[in-house]
Amino acid sequence: MGADGVGEDEVLPGMGGYLRTVRAPEFAGMVFHEVEARSALNKVAGGAMPFGWTINPYRGCSHACRYCFARNSHSYLELDTGEDFDRQVVVKVNVARVLQRELRGRRWAREHVAMGTNTDPYQRAEGRYRLMPGVITALARSGTPFSVLTKGTLLARDLPLIADAAKDVSVGLGVSIALTDRSLQASLEPGTPTPAARLDLVRRIADLGLRCGVMIAPVLPMLTDSEEALDELLGRIAAAGAAGATVLALHLRPGTRDWFMAWLAREYPALVEPYRRLYSRGAYVDKRYREMLSARVVPLLRRHRLGGGAEQRGLPGDEQGRWSRGSLPRKADPEDLGEQLALL
Ligand code: SF4
Repeated sequence: MGADGVGEDEVLPGMGGYLRTVRAPEFAGMVFHEVEARSALNKVAGGAMPFGWTINPYRGCSHACRYCFARNSHSYLELDTGEDFDRQVVVKVNVARVLQRELRGRRWAREHVAMGTNTDPYQRAEGRYRLMPGVITALARSGTPFSVLTKGTLLARDLPLIADAAKDVSVGLGVSIALTDRSLQASLEPGTPTPAARLDLVRRIADLGLRCGVMIAPVLPMLTDSEEALDELLGRIAAAGAAGATVLALHLRPGTRDWFMAWLAREYPALVEPYRRLYSRGAYVDKRYREMLSARVVPLLRRHRLGGGAEQRGLPGDEQGRWSRGSLPRKADPEDLGEQLALL
C-alpha cells in the first residue's frame, strides 16, 4: 500500500482488466478500483430507448441515493448493493482512449450516445480522474451527438467544453432534482450536491444558451408528492431556466428495495406498511397511485411551462437528441424509461 493508499491485492471477482485499488486521502471513505476497460460504448438492447448507445465511465456511485436502481449491478462484482455500491467505485481509467478507437471504426454510425443512464458520470470520482473531458472531446470530434444526465455540479467544470461541442454536434443536458427539502435530501441522497446547488447548475447551463431538462425522479409517495412540494419544485426549476421537466414515481427493484426499505424503516417507520401496499405487485408503484400522480403533475407542468401536456414522463431526446419540453420518446414504453434510466 503506497502513500496514495494504492494496493494490488484486492482483485474483485468479475472485474476484468483490473489495475489497482486506490484509497485517496482527499476522498475519505471511498475506494476506487481502477480497471482497463475493453470497450467504452455499450449497445442498448431491445431498441426501446431513444438512444442506441451509452457510456459509463464508473460502476458504483458515491452520490449514494437510497433509491438508486443501479445498485444491483454491484452484485456482479460480488460486492454488496448497499454500502459497497456507494463507496467502492470501479473506474475505467482508459475509457476515453478506448472510445477514440471505437469511434474511428468504419462501422460507427454516429448514433446518439447517452451518459448518466446507469451511474453518474459526474460523481466525486470524476474530480480525481477527469475522464469526462476526454469522452466529450472524442464524441464531438467524431461527430457523435450525446447527452448527459447528472446530479453532479462538477458538470460545471466541463461546460465550456460542452458548449464548444454543441457547435458541432447535438448535445442534451439534464440535471436530476427530486426534491427541495434539504434535510430529506441529506438523508435520502447523502452524497449529492444540495438541491440549491443543482438548481444553480441548471441556471448556469441555461445562461450559456444550452437547453437543460430536469428529471424529477423519483417522486416518493407521501414524502415528496404533495401538490405544494411539486409546485414549489417545478416553480424553482422553471425560474432556473430549464427547458422542460420529467416526473417519475419511485420504483423499487431487487437490489434496491431492501436498501431503501431499511432506510424508510429507520427514518419513517409509519410509512413502511403503506409502501408495502403500494409496491405489493413488484417494482412499480400501484397503478392508481400513478394515475393520481399524473393528474396532479400534468396541470403543474403546464402552469410552469415545463411540459405542455400529458407527457410528464418525457425523456431527454427530441429529434435532435436534445432535452425537450416533456417530449416522449417515439418507441419507448414509459414504464421502461424508469427501468432503464438511472434515477439520477
Ligand atoms: S441514482 Fe444516480 S446519482 Fe444516485 S446513486 Fe444512483 S447513479 Fe448515483
